[in-house]
Amino acid sequence: MRHNFGAGPCILPQEVFKQASQAVLDFKDGLSILEISHRTPEFEGVVEETTKLVKELLNVPSGYSVLLLQGGASLQFAMVPMNLLPEGKTASYLETGVWANKAIKEVPAFGKANIVGSSKADNYTFIPKGYSIPEDSAYFHCTSNNTIYGTEMFSLPETNVPVICDMSSDIMSRVIDVSKYDLIYAGAQKNIGPAGLTIVIVKDEILGKVDRKIPAMLDYKVHIDGGSMYNTPPVFSIYVAMLNLRWLKSKGGVAEIEKENIAKANALYKEIDRNPLFKGTCAVEDRSRMNVCFVMENPELEKPFLKLAEENGIEGIKGHRSVGGFRASMYNALPITSVHTLIELMQIFAEKYQ
Ligand SMILES: *Cc1c(COP(=O)(O)O)cnc(C)c1O
Repeated sequence: MRHNFGAGPCILPQEVFKQASQAVLDFKDGLSILEISHRTPEFEGVVEETTKLVKELLNVPSGYSVLLLQGGASLQFAMVPMNLLPEGKTASYLETGVWANKAIKEVPAFGKANIVGSSKADNYTFIPKGYSIPEDSAYFHCTSNNTIYGTEMFSLPETNVPVICDMSSDIMSRVIDVSKYDLIYAGAQKNIGPAGLTIVIVKDEILGKVDRKIPAMLDYKVHIDGGSMYNTPPVFSIYVAMLNLRWLKSKGGVAEIEKENIAKANALYKEIDRNPLFKGTCAVEDRSRMNVCFVMENPELEKPFLKLAEENGIEGIKGHRSVGGFRASMYNALPITSVHTLIELMQIFAEKYQ
């Protein structure tokens, strides 16, 4: 039995893998999902259902478009300022980690970036608070979950400027109020489906306000008008995302999975706080439910603990090189039994080395 705590691409439900495998062999009348035209009514139905499931599961209000794109969250770092930042204007960014930083680095090609808050000096171990966003910002950009450091934003600042959010690693894990955002984007490979698909949820009225010429493939408007089919979409990734979103719906949707995610996170953090060998790396109030980062009081014990974990089927808990220690990513499909297995190993290890 493997317990996949990998940070992304990551675990998806077993039944989704089974259904996806079946569709590789026979999606429709003996044809594989990998060989059908994206212009068939069957595949158009897949795009329609995937879009509808995103709207339904996140309760997306009217006036927003859901787009199924490519290029990962990383392309959104550039598409956001290209489409939303008028020449010479300033956009405000919250600097909460490497991903936020990569988004900031794309801005100067289009306008100015203003960093309103940063936790860089503390290796991004908390979410800055109490900052103010200048009223004349074209938008405010934040990262809801910082996958590498294990911090998560549980509240948004009060502001009148459009809010843009990179939700790559916690989308679909908790209930959000989409109406508070003007654009949400997420690489699919953490809670939605396999790599190769990027979800964008955009409020239609914020578009069309920049004068620059935007290449067609990078223009949200072009993809809205094309129904996410301006060019050949990532057919298989969209199909598997649809299966996974169906799974999420059958589990009772985002509100139900959020309860499980809270239970998983509470159980693991409780053990980290209780167990004398381990300690968390982030400010308690900003602890992520998706990526739990922790280290050992005695760093020399990290190697033997990793070995014990791996011998017992625990996959992917080595921390990111910039944090060290361990990172247990607990996306929607990770069962709580896997979390219990990890906790038991931490207890067994403590008995041995305490
Ligand atoms: C994984 C991740 C990214 C990078 O996504 P790509 O799809 O690989 O470009 C960006 N932001 C966050 C928060 C992530 O977790």
